[in-house]
Amino acid sequence: MSLERLEGLNLYDGGLRNFVTSEFECKCGCGGNVVHHLVDLLQAIRDEAGVPIIVTSAYRCEAHNSRVGGKPGSMHTFGRAVDVALSHAAAYIALSHVYRRGSSVTGLGLRQHGSRRYMHIDVHPRPTPSTRPVPRCWTYE
Ligand SMILES: [Zn+2]
Ligand SMILES: [Zn+2]
Repeated sequence: MSLERLEGLNLYDGGLRNFVTSEFECKCGCGGNVVHHLVDLLQAIRDEAGVPIIVTSAYRCEAHNSRVGGKPGSMHTFGRAVDVALSHAAAYIALSHVYRRGSSVTGLGLRQHGSRRYMHIDVHPRPTPSTRPVPRCWTYE
């Protein structure tokens, strides 16, 4: 896999209303960004849900990714994944948006804790259905 990394990508300028670009940077402070259609997806979910969606993790450099227990080569390290915390109602709306996007979303992870829902959404540019069916869906222990 030789995906282009996004350290030098320009900041999103597509008309963010409910998110700020810094929410998509690496938490270690090194910068980075995520692909813009992932941000567009979050904004669409936010528009319909009408309640805040908290970005808990987006771009991660390799060092930060391993610090937080991410798998090597995680889509986060390519700026192609976001983790969000949201209400159960907003999570349902998020699922409907993910479904409508079809195969442009390649991975969806879900976790529940109390009334909170946590979702990982990733968009791999070149999924290989023959070896790894997409989209993939899983839950976290
Ligand atoms: Zn970093
Ligand atoms: Zn994630």
